[in-house]
Amino acid sequence: MARNTAIIILALLVPLAAPSATISTDAAPCARVRVAPRANAARIDCIAPGTTVAIIASSPYWRQVQYGNNTGWVAKKYVTETSAATPPAADQWLEVHIIDVGQGDGIWIRTPDDGVANGQYEGKNIIIDGGPDSSDANNALYAYLQQYAHPGAVIDALLITHPHTDHYRGAKSLVRHYDIRDIYDPGYPKGGTEYPAFKSTLVSKSGATTMLGLTNFTPLQWGTELDASILYGYGSPGADLGTASNTMENNASIVVRLQYGNHVFLFMGDAEGKDRADDPGTARYAEEWLLGNIPAARLKATVLKIAHHGSETSSTQPFISAVDPEILVVSSGRKRFGSVYLPDRTTLRRYCCHNPNIRIYRTDQDDEAEGRTETTDADGDHIIIRTNGTTMTITAHSNGVPITADTCQPPCE
Ligand SMILES: [Zn+2]
Repeated sequence: MARNTAIIILALLVPLAAPSATISTDAAPCARVRVAPRANAARIDCIAPGTTVAIIASSPYWRQVQYGNNTGWVAKKYVTETSAATPPAADQWLEVHIIDVGQGDGIWIRTPDDGVANGQYEGKNIIIDGGPDSSDANNALYAYLQQYAHPGAVIDALLITHPHTDHYRGAKSLVRHYDIRDIYDPGYPKGGTEYPAFKSTLVSKSGATTMLGLTNFTPLQWGTELDASILYGYGSPGADLGTASNTMENNASIVVRLQYGNHVFLFMGDAEGKDRADDPGTARYAEEWLLGNIPAARLKATVLKIAHHGSETSSTQPFISAVDPEILVVSSGRKRFGSVYLPDRTTLRRYCCHNPNIRIYRTDQDDEAEGRTETTDADGDHIIIRTNGTTMTITAHSNGVPITADTCQPPCE
């Protein structure tokens, strides 16, 4: 009888459509309530742990809650769901943000979020690589995340593809400021001092599960509606990494496949397919391994994050034919390697010859024309891809301004 009474009272307080939740004890002494889902938005209240709230909306790191006659935004990590009820209007969009970090990779994946913690549509935040800048002031990925997150926000998974500075250095900021859960590192035995020290900070990160090497990785569980897996990494049986140390390190890259509905993303890190001077008609290294070990149907992708910033050492013709991407994303900047800036024109041309209708988006958009350098090339050329499993939209930017960059350049001549 008493239980029924409690349910009736709860039903009067909380709209039926909204899941109810309580403010967790981690928020002690109280959870800040803000007018908008941003850390710098005005604070309107602070509510005590144990307070019952209704969740009425969600954003990547926040829940909009109602309690009594009040509403506001509270950090998601402090809102513990107690009854699923009917979920709020589902926000079933997967978002992939390829952030302009200059020469390097920095990718934020936000999985669909309906605000109901039942194994589906969980709203996870995942980072693949951190970009090249370890100082907070210069770190474009950290600055970007700060617009959405808050100090101590959760990164559900951090993947370091391989031990090169343009991929891991920026992750140092994330490790300093965020609550990171699962960390995947290839476990490659990179020498020197900087990378081993970085790996030590990953291993000792409080609250994190740090997995070094393919054999120690747990499966990617980013929501049951998603099929996420690591296709390749350091330790893939029989893989030929090459012999030069730089080649071996690139070919230690973690390769991730992510499928949501009809759409597949392939994130290549800096995995290679040949040496620079080799004929692109034959695949070696990581590309050869993927072609020989992954069923063709699982290599086919809608969106390919091109390997190695579009270098001539990747993207052999057999690999391009197998992946057959509709959308190519190039994360690169204005760093000179000998006489070369990445991406190589020859590499992009191969994709255009394979499919003249391919759409190419670049984080070095207009950087050459703007005279940008290695220190000024992280200038807001972000690429944001959203899909609900059927529809896909892409918003690319030049200097922070949305553009439509979908022509095949250079064309196949
Ligand atoms: Zn790189």
